[in-house]
Amino acid sequence: MELTNRETCYRALQSRDARFDGRIFVGVSSTGVYCRPICPARTPQFRNCKFFGSAAAAQEAGFRPCLRCRPETAPDLACWRGTSNTVSRALALIAEGALDGDGNGVDRLAERLGVGERQLRRLFLQHLGAAPVSVAQTRRVLFAKQLIHETRMPMTEVAMASGFSSLRRFNETFQELYHRPPSVLRRKGAAAVAGKDVTLRLRYRPPYDWTSILSFLRARAIAGVEVIEDERYFRTTEIDGKTGSIEVSHEAEHESLSVRIRVPDVRLLPGIVFRVRRLFDLGADIETIDRHLSADSILAPLVARRPGLRAPGGWDGFEIAVRAVLGQQITVAGARRYAGQLVEKHGCVVPDALRIHPQLTHAFPTAERLANHAIGLAMPGARLRAAKAVAEAALADPNLFRPSGDLDETIARLLKIPGVGEWTAQYIALRANRETDAFPATDAGLLRGAAAVHGEKTSSSALLVRAESWRPWRAYAAQHLWSADGDRAAIGR
Ligand SMILES: [Zn+2]
Repeated sequence: MELTNRETCYRALQSRDARFDGRIFVGVSSTGVYCRPICPARTPQFRNCKFFGSAAAAQEAGFRPCLRCRPETAPDLACWRGTSNTVSRALALIAEGALDGDGNGVDRLAERLGVGERQLRRLFLQHLGAAPVSVAQTRRVLFAKQLIHETRMPMTEVAMASGFSSLRRFNETFQELYHRPPSVLRRKGAAAVAGKDVTLRLRYRPPYDWTSILSFLRARAIAGVEVIEDERYFRTTEIDGKTGSIEVSHEAEHESLSVRIRVPDVRLLPGIVFRVRRLFDLGADIETIDRHLSADSILAPLVARRPGLRAPGGWDGFEIAVRAVLGQQITVAGARRYAGQLVEKHGCVVPDALRIHPQLTHAFPTAERLANHAIGLAMPGARLRAAKAVAEAALADPNLFRPSGDLDETIARLLKIPGVGEWTAQYIALRANRETDAFPATDAGLLRGAAAVHGEKTSSSALLVRAESWRPWRAYAAQHLWSADGDRAAIGR
């Protein structure tokens, strides 16, 4: 499905306007190639251009990815497009491999989302201009292309890592799409990497406030699971019982984060990349958000101080929820201590060879572990019962921490967990479910931050009234207020 505002799209293309990168893809009928608007190649003639809202739509229309501007490296804004809850959830599931491998068809995906198959196809067409299978196929091809270009990984592993059912299928797809075997696409002279680590570059839309997100994560880092050192973020991972670790650093000059990954199975890569994007909020349309929040007189100076401030997601929804429960009514430092004890006692030990940093010793405990074992830590009984209830709820509902797109529905679902109140539910929604409009108005840090900016004490009800105009980006406003509270603490007021 093509975009209809062709003149506007063409102007973006002529000026190589980076603001449209990830938002517009142009298919050139004379060459059969599709490009990002920033492609360095000569601007094609208007009559030869077809414009699409997603790489999948361009590919579905028969265009193949350009080898110069590499559409696989465009910032991935897919999750932000459209307003459909179902499409957002479906995209998250597809990114985690829901349409890869045998038996994982659109019918099953639709079933998981609680909609009919035909309805799902219609929604995809409406919001992305492409069918679910095309989106999955495009994702596989572009991820494989990135692995070929940026790593030295053998082709059999690239095929497996990107979700192809067989090496033959992978070779055929590349031959068909790029008119050459995948090995030819490997960048000449790409530096050989030490050991088996895979390093990938993940793009964002600038600006990006790396310092602030790192200090937010530093204040909450769990011993054994996370380390922040030399402006880098390290953490352990656990997916389907397989542990590993990652290192994330900022490459401002490339408008990217660089992610080094050490896992025992390459098939874990898409899931890990998906989590890094979520944790570091790489899909945010930050200009739109900053512009919207700047319209408010309280927030304007905060946005000016921290342009590109992101709302960090959770690495894992369950981990965030347990930490939120442990942190009820205590300081961030206190919550961090409890979480560290929990990890030491119940976390899965990461083998030495998989530790990218020597202090990464454990993966966060699984829901199964906490639901089925006595937690046995010295902390208030209500807190322990709540942590257990979260583990049981997570086991009972695999969608508990997935975005639903409807904040009220998410909050209602979370409030059903014994021991989870309004603050905890809003915090979990904000970080785990990635509800961009979540807002824990009773949070002490938020209220202090608001008071610091406002010059006088604010009640949570007054703050909620004020926050009405911050919708649908209240989560970002919360992040700015937390940062303002951090500044206040730093200068000792
Ligand atoms: Zn191009």
